[in-house]
Amino acid sequence: MHEIERTERVTVVGAGLVGSLLSMYLARRGFQVDVLERRPDMRRESIGAGRSINLAISTRGLHALRQVGLEEEALRHAIPMRGRMIHPVSGALAFQAYGKDESQHINSLSRAWLNAFLMTNAEGTGRVRIGFKQRVQHLDVETGTLSVLDEPSGTTREVRTPVVFGTDGSGSAVRHEVERLPGHTTTQEHLGHGYKELTIPAGPGGAFRMEKHALHIWPRGSYMLIALPNEDGSFTCTLFLPFQGPVSFESLDSPSKVVAFFQEQFPDALPLIPDLVHDFFHHPTGTMVTVKSAPWHVGGKTLLLGDAAHAIVPFFGQGMNCGFEDCVVLDACLGRHTRWAEAFEEFFRRRKTNADAIADMAVENFVEMRDKTADPRFLLEKAVEKALLNAFPGEFISRYSLVSFSRVPYRLAYEVGALASGIVAELSEGLTRAEDVDMNRARTLIHERLVPFVKEH
Ligand code: FAD
Repeated sequence: MHEIERTERVTVVGAGLVGSLLSMYLARRGFQVDVLERRPDMRRESIGAGRSINLAISTRGLHALRQVGLEEEALRHAIPMRGRMIHPVSGALAFQAYGKDESQHINSLSRAWLNAFLMTNAEGTGRVRIGFKQRVQHLDVETGTLSVLDEPSGTTREVRTPVVFGTDGSGSAVRHEVERLPGHTTTQEHLGHGYKELTIPAGPGGAFRMEKHALHIWPRGSYMLIALPNEDGSFTCTLFLPFQGPVSFESLDSPSKVVAFFQEQFPDALPLIPDLVHDFFHHPTGTMVTVKSAPWHVGGKTLLLGDAAHAIVPFFGQGMNCGFEDCVVLDACLGRHTRWAEAFEEFFRRRKTNADAIADMAVENFVEMRDKTADPRFLLEKAVEKALLNAFPGEFISRYSLVSFSRVPYRLAYEVGALASGIVAELSEGLTRAEDVDMNRARTLIHERLVPFVKEH
């Protein structure tokens, strides 16, 4: 078992969000870090932002940025989203706050800006070297030999390295090598839905054409549209649809069908998306997958983090947040151990159950977002939940607030969240207005079921 030598060169595969942040954490601990990234340098060449144009960063992700001094600058580029704005087919918009008050919000941030910002700051440490257009093709885990395709020249070279961090995303080449080893397993569950990005451009003078401080949702049962604000006044919309079926990417096969579908289902969005037809037929259709693998490490030689270890579907806005939290937890493990294998073992033990929990919650949230946000019963329960959050601070907590506004382990958020929603459902029984909730009974239920559980942990 080799010891952690602080001045040794280590290799990170993938300069995406997690790989770039991880490099900063490793540099801070004294390592020299070589990063191999298959894409061109997005700061010099224009490339697609990747899998989503903007994303939501919340408490866990912000905490990880804070540890390396980057939170403040990131927040300067972020737009706070204080709740969900629900767009019904007809009728008034409904705003559902995310937290107990406006201080609890999530933040919309450009993926491309954040990735470039992280790379620049990683290189700025003086210990991180990022090689672009360097595609890792194979890894011999035993010898620590990577075969790397230098895309400009088309030649392949071998790179020997004592430690490899695989942060190369959900289709990870590093994981493919790891999962071939005895005792390693990976499952991948593809969602039957895909997604397509569309744009609502800014109005005159960069004006936002819908409420700026909200995540907009058009919930429609088996499909939905969402929109997140961008700094320039535009919104990036994502349409989630089944691949096949009566209303699907397959069935919407002509411009007239797409426009008719939007006219019928998203009438208020249609006039705001001038390039709908072009974007629908030219933008790629994204796929979504839940990856669960175990273990994430091979002795002290290789470790998977971020989507490479645990890709999740995007419906809780936590994939990156979870990957950033990986960096914080690994950093603490590196501080406690002198041997790589022990640090990696502890990291895997602490993170695996939590990654599985957020993976499952993300799938459950898909159903909540597309189906339930339009359901009057769900709206009533959300209002009761908010009343309880305000009336019993520190005692009543919801799953959403634990996941998005705290750093308690995801597994605990899952379990406490289930108890909390049981209490809300019971108190909402027979009610038509959240104002009529029986606060005495609420106190009793919370003290009986939630407070002891929270105290135990
Ligand atoms: P990636 O971002 O995929 O980066 C992997 C990097 O590795 C890339 O730069 C890639 O080019 C490189 N690479 C891949 N293969 C190789 C190779 N063989 N050799 C060298 N380099 C390689 N998360 C949130 O927290 N909030 C959100 O709101 C949110 N919204 C999302 C919306 C959508 C539609 C999707 C699909 C995801 C969303 N996510 C969100 C999840 C988030 O995008 C991921 O969790 C995050 O990007 C993971 O970062 P990563 O660095 O692990 O992987």
